[in-house]
Amino acid sequence: MADACKIVPYDELEQGIQAKPISYGRQLIDEDDIAAVSAVLRSDWLTTGPMVAAFEEAVAAFTGAGYGAAVSSGTAALHAALHALGIGPGDEVIVPAITFVATANAVLYQGATPVFADVEPGTLLIDPEAVRTRITPMTRAIIAVDYAGQPCRYERLRQIADEYGLALVADACHSLGGATATGRVGTLADLTVFSFHPVKHITTGEGGMVVTDDGELAASVRRFRNHGIDTDHRQREEKGVWHYEMVELGMNYRLSDLQCALGMSQLAKLPGWLARRREIARQYTTSFSKNPLVQPLEVRPEVAHAFHLYVIRLDRSIHRKTFFGGMRERGIGVNVHYQPVYLHPHYRQRFGFASGLCPVAEAAYETIISLPMHHGLDDRAVARVIKEVGDLAGRCDE
Ligand SMILES: *Cc1c(COP(=O)(O)O)cnc(C)c1O
Repeated sequence: MADACKIVPYDELEQGIQAKPISYGRQLIDEDDIAAVSAVLRSDWLTTGPMVAAFEEAVAAFTGAGYGAAVSSGTAALHAALHALGIGPGDEVIVPAITFVATANAVLYQGATPVFADVEPGTLLIDPEAVRTRITPMTRAIIAVDYAGQPCRYERLRQIADEYGLALVADACHSLGGATATGRVGTLADLTVFSFHPVKHITTGEGGMVVTDDGELAASVRRFRNHGIDTDHRQREEKGVWHYEMVELGMNYRLSDLQCALGMSQLAKLPGWLARRREIARQYTTSFSKNPLVQPLEVRPEVAHAFHLYVIRLDRSIHRKTFFGGMRERGIGVNVHYQPVYLHPHYRQRFGFASGLCPVAEAAYETIISLPMHHGLDDRAVARVIKEVGDLAGRCDE
């Protein structure tokens, strides 16, 4: 225990200097990013231009998937993915209890019914055995969520999906750059969804992408993002034609060239940022291994974790609200990810959900806290977080 206290050389705090608040997640924008966006502003195409395909190809190549289809958010990507699979009224889609609401909301957008499966206690990832118990004759798909950045048990989920003839979608909004023993995130499901919101690994302001090895599914996502029209403005311009056909009802879910240029510029820095996130996680985990009151989530040894979040579980002797407030007061931007989705008022009222549906998720929700985790955190900031966690959860130095 004494050792845990030695790695906290945060002198400014000891001298009582007010340090800058540390956010739980945030973007990093440099002059290259600004130049890339400015170049698009000076070009002919602000949207439906050449940067869109360039960004799609770059993300697909990074993940190892055959195709990418850029859309306006991660939520739009989930919606477009379910539309491409033909999910509709009367269908059920299995989703984990612990995720951002968008995962389940996308099922509602398609008029289908989300069915919540419990998570594994160590990792808070969707539990394949719980998925099995939720399958009915109406089940059409499973959405796995790589919570915190750790890829799910895709081998087992794939087996279950194949056994019952279900589609497998990866909500990989947390896990860009992650991998399992069998492949990279982007190649582990029929369709994989990313978000480029500022707290995610790379940002386009708002933005998202679907990647897949299936050219028809990719074409469906591109059509859906463009009102259900099968050509875009630039394609018609190139061919010199004005006629177009709207073949189904779609949305305007396009990602602009400004955003795609920012995404391209950000993507170039992603390998270094992933390495930094993993180093921060290593420092946290090393420190907390000496504090029995703070337990990091389990990481399966065979995965490459992408660390969108760093989540700890507090011992039951620590009052989470007090810990949360204490950290905030000390300028550490902690957060809680997530309340089980079905306990939100809309889901309770619409479906009559109540406590008890997914006991592992509900118990976990009482104790979890996300610590600051982003590629812009330097070692001093990490040391400060570690010191404050130690002060508030198990003072070890006196
Ligand atoms: C961020 C996120 C989304 C939604 O992405 P947006 O780009 O904000 O629409 C969906 N699912 C998960 C798990 C997320 O973290």
